Amino acid sequence: MNAIPTCREVERDLVAVAAGEAGATEARGVERHVAVCRDCRAELEALLADIRSRMVSYGIFPSPLGKILIARSELGVSMVRYIDSEASAKAYLARLAGDEAVEDPAAVEATYRELLDYLNARGTRLSWPLDLRWAQGDFQRRVLAVTAQLPYGAVTSYGGIARRIGAPASVRAVAQALRHNPIPIAIPCHRVIGSGGDLTGYAGTRIGLKERLLSLEGVPVGHRARKIERGHMYILAEGEVEYCVPSCGDISRKPLAEVTLFGSRQHAEAVGLSPCTSCRPDLHPLSA
Ligand SMILES: [Zn+2]
Ligand SMILES: [Zn+2]
Repeated sequence: MNAIPTCREVERDLVAVAAGEAGATEARGVERHVAVCRDCRAELEALLADIRSRMVSYGIFPSPLGKILIARSELGVSMVRYIDSEASAKAYLARLAGDEAVEDPAAVEATYRELLDYLNARGTRLSWPLDLRWAQGDFQRRVLAVTAQLPYGAVTSYGGIARRIGAPASVRAVAQALRHNPIPIAIPCHRVIGSGGDLTGYAGTRIGLKERLLSLEGVPVGHRARKIERGHMYILAEGEVEYCVPSCGDISRKPLAEVTLFGSRQHAEAVGLSPCTSCRPDLHPLSA
């Protein structure tokens, strides 16, 4: 009977076994060694966990917004992408993730179902854990983190996001960061609009989808100009806990970057805001 290989002898084979690239003899040696060596067993488990956490499963599904690619890892959802062509979407993912991305629709089916519920107005929250592996750097991560906090049914401007990350002059950089949002819908970049209320861009040229997502949340979009009219929205000023009608006090003169707009009282109150005791939006609601 062969001697059990030593730690030194299996060192390199551990990596090969974890990666699924070891030959039968090496695999057998590692198996016999880790049966008796606790350190190497822990090392192998750590290598396997690392590889598992890098793997991403994805599927391509139909949705009310067209075909959507959804990818997730064991950490969370890492990509939602509107696609025109399955072949180019797969090629994109392959460039990004190499052979760590595996088409496995069953693994993302539950995520897809939740997304469908959301898009069909059967839910207002996507409480997915997110895996931001494809965010591009710290600035974009900060922009995405703040954007993720925007409540359902609310909008602010790119300048508003820039203020919230403490970089009020970086409006264009914020717009760029959101343009490359790897997880749209779940990170609701559709709730961020131009300083004049115009919808501006969304996922390239899909501005119609932005309008649909906002309409779904009860945000009134002027159809001809694709513009949000402040005069038809409830307003929350920076740092306040009461929401107002648009004509309250000096709030109507505040730039969009310093306020959050809500399409309905219901969505404002859903995040714990109360009606302003001076303009009383509860007594004088906006007409729909
Ligand atoms: Zn060992
Ligand atoms: Zn007020």
